[in-house]
Amino acid sequence: MPRLNWCLQVLCSLMISSHLLAQQPVNIHTVVIDAGHGGHDPGAIGQTAKEKNINLAIALKLGNLIQSTMSDVKVIYTRDKDYFVELYRRAAIANEAKAGLFISIHCNANNNHSLKGAETYIMGLHKSEANLKIAKLENAAILLEDDYLTTYDGFDPNSDESYIIFSLNQNLNLDKSTGFAAAIQEQMEERVGMHNRGVRQAGFLVLYKTTMPSVLVETGYLSNTEEEKFLSSPKGQDYIASAIFRAFKKFSTLPAKLPAEKKQTVTTPPPAKTSGLRYRIQIAAEPDELDLTDHRFDELKDVRMYKHGGMFKYTIGNETSLEAARKLQTEVRQKGIRDAFIVIFRNDERIPQPEADAILKK
Ligand SMILES: [Zn+2]
Repeated sequence: MPRLNWCLQVLCSLMISSHLLAQQPVNIHTVVIDAGHGGHDPGAIGQTAKEKNINLAIALKLGNLIQSTMSDVKVIYTRDKDYFVELYRRAAIANEAKAGLFISIHCNANNNHSLKGAETYIMGLHKSEANLKIAKLENAAILLEDDYLTTYDGFDPNSDESYIIFSLNQNLNLDKSTGFAAAIQEQMEERVGMHNRGVRQAGFLVLYKTTMPSVLVETGYLSNTEEEKFLSSPKGQDYIASAIFRAFKKFSTLPAKLPAEKKQTVTTPPPAKTSGLRYRIQIAAEPDELDLTDHRFDELKDVRMYKHGGMFKYTIGNETSLEAARKLQTEVRQKGIRDAFIVIFRNDERIPQPEADAILKK
């Protein structure tokens, strides 16, 4: 099918869906969990593991965590067993359910067997060939569908040209998707200890077709022996499910606008000469730098940014005692940022987490 025709069709449907979307309330009471591949599509293959099985195991564990602790959230799986589901169908399941969030779970693979770590994708135009390559690999699943040229209006997953259309994407959910993706990456690094490969953008068809905040998590590399072992183990799958769950909790409770701080909470006591440590409350982590005049920081006092693990992280407060930091943390949590946590700095450098944990345990 002529490329131009495909582009025009998509552009028209984008305009229509953007218009409709603006009127639809987002319903975060439903989350769709998408275990990538399945059935005759194994996905990436390691020495012994098949991606489809690991994706399903993590998806079910994540769903169980949500269902057992957040009874007001409805969990829908695009598949709960080992069977094939078309990419368009996965997105349609989420759209029909008017889900508030779509989480697609995958594993990565590369000819370079030393590559390792987790990366989370949001919809958009790729900024690197590496990102495009991963989108091509995942989109190639449609080649196993009957009549994919008709279903996807002539989209060819292997042609670079097909991906140009994604630059036209007016993604209304980009901010939310980015926030959720950043939260996942942070948890993967801090709670699971995975190498953080960051939040990235590329043209994944499954994300393109959804109409709510959507991410695709590449949980690790099956081509790396060590990670294949970790991803295949029930313990590794538990860790990853729990990292995504923590990010989900954060996403579903974070207010659109951070609340104003009370004046008295930021009056800092005179610095204690003895310790030299500063305690700050981390409130956000983003893949791209935010202007400190960003509306999310309106009326917050003492907002600071530091770089850590490839992310831009934002804190408030600069307390000289753990007691003052705990008080500020409690106030921030009560205002809705429920997983705000204390980070400790020495000479403006964040101290390693094991050292901080030892101090926080006191
Ligand atoms: Zn995959």
